[in-house]
Amino acid sequence: MTESTNSTATIGVLTETADGERRVSLDPSAVASLVKLGHAVLVESGAGEAACFRDSAYSTAGATISTHAQVITRCDVLAVVRAPVQTLSNKLRAGQMVIGLLDPLNNIRGMKALSDRNVTAVAFELLPRTVSRSQSMDALSSQASAAGYRAGIVAAAAFDRYLPMMITASGTATPAKVIVIGTGVAGLQAIATAKRLGAVVTGYDVRAASRQEVESLGAKFLTSTVQQGAGNGGYAKALTAEERTAQQGELSAALVSFDIIITTAKVPGRTPPVLVTRQTLDALRPGSVCVDLGSSDKGGNVVDSVPNTTTVTANGVTIIGAGDLAADLPASASQMYGRNIVAVIASLMPKGVLAFDPTDEIHQSIVVCTNGSIVNPAIRTALGITPAAKATTKTAPIKDKVLAS
Ligand code: NAD
Repeated sequence: MTESTNSTATIGVLTETADGERRVSLDPSAVASLVKLGHAVLVESGAGEAACFRDSAYSTAGATISTHAQVITRCDVLAVVRAPVQTLSNKLRAGQMVIGLLDPLNNIRGMKALSDRNVTAVAFELLPRTVSRSQSMDALSSQASAAGYRAGIVAAAAFDRYLPMMITASGTATPAKVIVIGTGVAGLQAIATAKRLGAVVTGYDVRAASRQEVESLGAKFLTSTVQQGAGNGGYAKALTAEERTAQQGELSAALVSFDIIITTAKVPGRTPPVLVTRQTLDALRPGSVCVDLGSSDKGGNVVDSVPNTTTVTANGVTIIGAGDLAADLPASASQMYGRNIVAVIASLMPKGVLAFDPTDEIHQSIVVCTNGSIVNPAIRTALGITPAAKATTKTAPIKDKVLAS
């Protein structure tokens, strides 16, 4: 890392290039936080445009508006939303750091390439989310919240009827019945949004612990006989073949009575389970809507969902492949994401230069590679590298300076 003379870093922001990506890694308020800490920020001209953040707002916050090439060559830290494409990775130089949703477990070669270039890669997906210190850095949660909220709105917009009960002089409309499958961060936000819009909402999850969270939002919980679904870190574990069969039977029977199905069921590192089958789609009433937040090029929770595409089945069911819904709420999602980036920089670079501490459980997880070595244990395993000697994990005292805002 090139140490700036005043021991602060230069943080770079580029325009995101993935299809449909409207977020930006730092919003002007995150820039202001970094400038307050003494860092310099370079923003590619137009980088925030799709999220409604103008160059002038970045300038006012203290950033220097720059060209794409200037950002890449001058920054110490490149803050990104999505993993850099190969042509961008190839331009990064030794000692630079890249922070973002790098999708490391599905991008092992990309991680190795960054390590070989002696770039430090920091991936939000590897953050230990249940450590209280990590919460301000939890971009998976901030983006899942945005996606879950948006799912409720998108579902309502695609539904041809009222969501709430409407009693009018011209008649009464019954409220829509919504089920949210997978009640993690996104699912709970989808439930809260559909409730606010007046629907009658049910939640379903294989983690028994989620019942209380669903009911605390005023929604019903669809009881599953498959309730051993919790694995490490509160995530769901992959179900056995018998559990899957039992689940499919009970879900298929229940789903046909709903108007809107929102799916968010994921298992880390695995293809999402198909929970809405073709048979279920055929049995749904015309006008029903499925919003699939699990949708990606690897599949989704709804059998025929196509990523970032709306399709309508022969019997009139709308399927919305919505795996990237946070990008559909770009200003709010970027604002939260920017705070996550600032918190990571404060933790990893308290004095403006990388202070990687292999005994810190956040550093040892979130940093994929540094100094030419892959350091994250899961990525080492995926690459077939022998495990590194175990560093003792520090539990106390908490020393990271994590920004509150
Ligand atoms: P996720 O995106 O990995 O999955 C979404 C939901 O789908 C999960 O609730 C999961 O149990 C459910 N699911 C998976 N397979 C399913 C199936 N076959 N049928 C039905 N449901 C299925 O989850 P997430 O939102 O990232 O949250 C994962 C866990 O982490 C949750 O327990 C959450 O409370 C926890 N979490 C904790 C913190 C914290 O402590 N600060 C922060 C974020 C998340």
